Amino acid sequence: MRISTFDTTLRDGTQGEAISFTVEDKLAIALKLDELGIDYIEGGWPGSNPRDKDFFIRAKDLALKHSRLTAFGSTRFAKNPVDRDPNVKALVEAGTPVIAIFGKTWDLHTQRALKISEEENLKLISETVRYLKDHGKEVIFDAEHFFDGYNANSAFALRALEGAKDAGADILCLCDTNGGVLTHRIAEIVAEVRKRFDGVLGIHVHNDSETAVASTLAAVEAGVTHVQGCMNGYGERCGNANLCSVIANLELKLGHTVLGPEKLASLTTVARFIAELANLPLRGDQAFVGHSAFAHKGGVHVSAVLRDAATYEHINPALVGNRQRVLLSDLSGRGNVLYKLKQHGIADRLTDDARRELLERIKHLEYLGYELEAAEGTFELLVREALHPGVTFFDLESFEVTTRMEDNLESKTSATVVIKAQDGIHTASAAGHGPVNALDLCLRKCLSTLYPTIANVRLTDYKVRVLEPKKGTAAKVRVLIEWSDHQRSWATVGVSDNVIEASWRALVDAIRLELMRLTEADDSVTRAVEDYCWGV
Ligand SMILES: [Zn+2]
Repeated sequence: MRISTFDTTLRDGTQGEAISFTVEDKLAIALKLDELGIDYIEGGWPGSNPRDKDFFIRAKDLALKHSRLTAFGSTRFAKNPVDRDPNVKALVEAGTPVIAIFGKTWDLHTQRALKISEEENLKLISETVRYLKDHGKEVIFDAEHFFDGYNANSAFALRALEGAKDAGADILCLCDTNGGVLTHRIAEIVAEVRKRFDGVLGIHVHNDSETAVASTLAAVEAGVTHVQGCMNGYGERCGNANLCSVIANLELKLGHTVLGPEKLASLTTVARFIAELANLPLRGDQAFVGHSAFAHKGGVHVSAVLRDAATYEHINPALVGNRQRVLLSDLSGRGNVLYKLKQHGIADRLTDDARRELLERIKHLEYLGYELEAAEGTFELLVREALHPGVTFFDLESFEVTTRMEDNLESKTSATVVIKAQDGIHTASAAGHGPVNALDLCLRKCLSTLYPTIANVRLTDYKVRVLEPKKGTAAKVRVLIEWSDHQRSWATVGVSDNVIEASWRALVDAIRLELMRLTEADDSVTRAVEDYCWGV
């Protein structure tokens, strides 16, 4: 069955506490949703704020290829005749082919909030729908609080729907506005409504009971053919039904036609694009499109997945444009590391002993508190060292760092480093901006005659994380340093209960890695590691 999709990221989505889009963002998102093949894009409420009004003015120039732009608003106010209601006027002026209007279908609201009779409420609905139809609009009637309303007084709720239908509404959309109705009840009520109304029924569910996606799917099973939701599940309070998951499930699990396979394969890209504009990280564990949605960490899982992905994956990730990732971890067996190395043709270059030793080193480092997933530089160095056993470049003889502060003035730091390289002992001293900089300068001085090109590598970020917070200032720390050679960037990691030692370890790894890369131009190892660490 063909199911039409209605995205309200730009309207309901922006009700989410952390979400704010500029007009430019909204225009860019509308274009992206159009590319994805969403049928209706609800752009905002033109009668409620200047930003939405501005959006609709500028959206007139958007050359949408597929999506029908929709303006949202309420039925006329009780005190205004429909042709003089400013909200209805703003809806018509928005110039969209489609208008979604919400009306009351819960007697509690007409009695308590609007303080009007049922007859009056029906008039608000039918007059507004008819007025918009007379203006040539496709009209979606959002039956606000429909499920709560049906539970409280089904006859009242159904009469409101009937009023909208008789006035010419093209789609009757049943809304669980408070998000509190559970899936089985949504399905029952939709089935009852389906019996009484032909034509297109829609569903709009909020996620306050964390069942919005399930309820949306159940509604489709009960006869709905129009689904509303927000990309990434954004929305007021706990969000709306996550349209990414709704679409993927409808298409891949329930056999409906929604976007078609080609566009479905861009779902992950679009979800990320929108998260980017929302300035929110896309949740790693977000179903279908998250970075971790097809990530495997446990050793047993990994070896099974490598033999047959179906063992631990509910769909082929490529269908939604995501991909399988295999994570390194002390939990894992040998499969994880070998998987990545195999993909890039590196595994065959390692001897059995070297492979085993590499895995042992990784496990040991992770046990000590290293986080190799975030430190591709250190991981790459391990792999390169396994490929070239015995290549060390230099060993540390000693280092010393002094920081001196007097009279609360700016502190001064100097360091001395002694290393043993292949041509003998090198000693260097330097003053620096803090201990890491001073050590870095010393190390580079020591190596500069032997390896002049290491000068290209620069530190770009430095982060410290306490690993054992209960120990206070005596805690072990993990230092993550980011580097760049102006073409690419990578991070190295060091762990110690001494922050300077941890920094030194991360620093030395970065320099060693650079020397390794210079020695062996082949960068398949770099690609394998980047592929693993950055994934999609
Ligand atoms: Zn809503």
